[in-house]
Amino acid sequence: MSIALFSGRIYTAVDELPAAEAVLIEKNTIVAVGTNSEIKKKCTRGTQQIDLAGKFVAPGFTDAHTHVWSMGRRLSMVDLRGLTSLAACQEAIARSADKASPGQWIIGRNWNQNIWDNGQEPNRQDLDRVTPNNPAVMIRICGHASWVNSRALELAGVTADTPEPQGGKIEREPGTQIPSGIIRETRQLVEYLLPEPSPEMKKQAFLKCQTLFFQNGITCVHSFETLEEYKIIKEIERSGKLKLRVYHSLPPEDLELFDKWEKTTTPQSDLLWHGHTKLFADGSLGARSACLHGPYLDTNGDRGIACLTPDQMQQDIEHSYSMGRSVIVHAIGDRAVTETLNAIEEARKKYPGPKRDRIEHIQLCCLEDLVRMGQMDIAASVQPMAIQTDRDVAERIWGDHRCGRAYAWKTMADQGLRLIFSSDAPIEPINPMAAIQTAVTRKSFNEPDGQSWHSEQCLSVETALKGYFEHAGWASGKEALFGSIQPGKRADLTILSRDPRSVAADKIKDIAVEMTIVDGEIVFLGL
Ligand SMILES: [Zn+2]
Ligand SMILES: [Zn+2]
Repeated sequence: MSIALFSGRIYTAVDELPAAEAVLIEKNTIVAVGTNSEIKKKCTRGTQQIDLAGKFVAPGFTDAHTHVWSMGRRLSMVDLRGLTSLAACQEAIARSADKASPGQWIIGRNWNQNIWDNGQEPNRQDLDRVTPNNPAVMIRICGHASWVNSRALELAGVTADTPEPQGGKIEREPGTQIPSGIIRETRQLVEYLLPEPSPEMKKQAFLKCQTLFFQNGITCVHSFETLEEYKIIKEIERSGKLKLRVYHSLPPEDLELFDKWEKTTTPQSDLLWHGHTKLFADGSLGARSACLHGPYLDTNGDRGIACLTPDQMQQDIEHSYSMGRSVIVHAIGDRAVTETLNAIEEARKKYPGPKRDRIEHIQLCCLEDLVRMGQMDIAASVQPMAIQTDRDVAERIWGDHRCGRAYAWKTMADQGLRLIFSSDAPIEPINPMAAIQTAVTRKSFNEPDGQSWHSEQCLSVETALKGYFEHAGWASGKEALFGSIQPGKRADLTILSRDPRSVAADKIKDIAVEMTIVDGEIVFLGL
């Protein structure tokens, strides 16, 4: 089976290679890239020839930070994203509660009090009002806090006497110490009660997500979930339905189990493979649990939450290195980044040798830590769409001065860091074009004529595009196979209606995905 694409604007994603017009694919591999006439000569009678009429061809996009199962599960939850008042959220929750059977959990997601008219965090009574009998848990947009009702607290046995959990916080009513209904970080205090979906439900959810990724031009995802999810994706691969490339990383508690289990199954492949251990250094901006050097401006000197002590973090990293895995560390606040670098530095002394470590999010960072990241060759894996969600709240609770070094992607690129883009789905929408527009303009979609937020950090379209190709392959150990359009690479391609480099910056997000190809197979065809 061979396919030739002609008359495209082919973006190879390699600076040294010229732009091209045509690509020839044999089976799952790119075999030639060049002008129309060069490729024409190489076609045989069986070659499927497609005229792209000037459309833009990029390597398949990698979304290097996703939680595929959470994304799939969310498809069946009450979605509170974008609702601008508590009342609007209550209304949406009430609609779901009305349909629920007795005892059924009402699960929702994506509330964000920072966009509510009153800006106040909700409490259990707000939820009791619309779902007094069914237990309910509403996960904040960042995933780092949940809002639960009285019934949920009662079932979970979380009371005034429950001690403060390590690495988290139960907000309490003043005086009585009764939980107020907000739990930070340690969501498991209540969520351990949520009914576990069957493997079949998980499979179906994964397949729905796979379709969504293809519709958005994404051919590869890095998924941060557990051994359990890996097993399910493995089954999907065995059934022949896995078409999306999935690079899986694991939580530290699964490493031994994983190695044991893997001996009993077929080897990893170029479609489904694994590496890295995922660790958490802190919480999130919006939940005020990102760990900072200085205080949040709207608290009494609070500096966020470190999920691990420095010793624990170092131990977890050493454990990971000892199992042959590099680390991926979630670190949002500047202090979390500093602590992470300290821990990695120490752990590497014990376990020297090449590493492909990455830090995720890096929403606030000291310049000297970015320099250290460069020296230590640690990738910066960031989510451009976070600006859409976080800009106003970051200004408010970190202050304009600190925000000068927030989401500092231009500085990262200038420091020569391996800059990798992703969605953190389901935290942010997965459309790479929306993310690229955000990285280029640093403007809210709601205010296209507004000011760029710290415009000195705006990226060129070229640099933003590279965030999806250049280092994502390296981060998953497969740079030899993916990330550019070159002979010998796998035939993963995304075809867009327009070249993002030649449309107005505020129109990039409107560019449509026309075709997605993985391993030489067309997996999505737009209208
Ligand atoms: Zn994270
Ligand atoms: Zn994440």
